[in-house]
Amino acid sequence: MSEKTEPEVATSASLRAMIQRWVELESPSSDYATLLAMADLIAEDVLALGLQVEYIGLANGAPPLLHVHNRADSDERPGILILSHYDTVHPVGTLEDNPVRVEGDRLYGPGIYDMKAGICLALTGLAQAQADQGTRLPVDLLISPDEEIGSHLTRAIMEDFARRSRYVLVCEPARANGGRCVTARKGTGFINVKTRGRPAHAGIQHEKGRNAIQDMAHHILALQAMTDYDRGITVNVGTIQGGTTSNVVPEHCQIRADFRIPDPEAVDELRAQVTALKAVVPDVTLDVQFELNRPPMPRTEKTEALLQRCQEFARRAGFELQEAPMTGGASDANFTAALGVPTLDGLGADGDGAHTLHEHILLSTLDVRQQFWRLTLAELE
Ligand SMILES: [Zn+2]
Repeated sequence: MSEKTEPEVATSASLRAMIQRWVELESPSSDYATLLAMADLIAEDVLALGLQVEYIGLANGAPPLLHVHNRADSDERPGILILSHYDTVHPVGTLEDNPVRVEGDRLYGPGIYDMKAGICLALTGLAQAQADQGTRLPVDLLISPDEEIGSHLTRAIMEDFARRSRYVLVCEPARANGGRCVTARKGTGFINVKTRGRPAHAGIQHEKGRNAIQDMAHHILALQAMTDYDRGITVNVGTIQGGTTSNVVPEHCQIRADFRIPDPEAVDELRAQVTALKAVVPDVTLDVQFELNRPPMPRTEKTEALLQRCQEFARRAGFELQEAPMTGGASDANFTAALGVPTLDGLGADGDGAHTLHEHILLSTLDVRQQFWRLTLAELE
């Protein structure tokens, strides 16, 4: 339970109320109006905690990137950068059938585990550290509106902050069954392939047609075969469109595939294989796009050193911080780790069910995890 020494700014009850308030304001990545309302709610709570917040405007009229910090005006030292996001994958209305509710130790709600509770932990931990003795390093906490859809609007800003930071800590959910943190993530990206053939009447001039779907069938099998489970490489052809009706030789076909990749060498290899695809059916033309969205986040010696420090803080806070094996899910940690800044992820809430309707956090872990953030932010240097 909560310790007697905790300052008034964030007791267990107020932390839980804050999490509930945030989850009850639904904020899917695509809904700018609700995201803006969410940004305002966060800013209000940040100010009430005695911290400073700045709205960083983004392109396309998107809701802001929030920058919470405890810096004095003249303080430009490299500090601790915390990354988080206030968008969720759940559409507005999810709460109607899935309200915030408690079952035993579990607090359920859309977006609670990924990652509104995680942001609340870091924020209140920072407020406590600040109200106490302050932090040894300045702390910058970024809360973004577009992580779940690829961070296209915020990536460059996060990278700019990261280059000026000593460490990056990320509030993505702790891994289920033990609350483990994440030191390595695969890279992710997309492959788009379009084939163009020649249309013809399937009954009268079958031989004159050039079948775009037939050609694509070869590429689908080739792409799927690039999967190598032993090396942690996966390629998944996920969507296909083509043809108009069964009695026409189809002129067009297109597919979209997702890939996951463990290291930069594997990215180069896969790119070479994919861009070497050639049309098989005569006269068909092929258009191939290979897009790396998030680069791999490798585990480095600097990551290891940061992990060891954080494990000490966790022990003092009252839990063992274990390390999860490399995960196939990417996050903004991929961007900062690829820049060589020591990055530790999965430090958010403990629970399970990210991106599902049974998403929940474990209430009994909130206090120790808040204490972890408080100690880490206060003492890491
Ligand atoms: Zn997330």
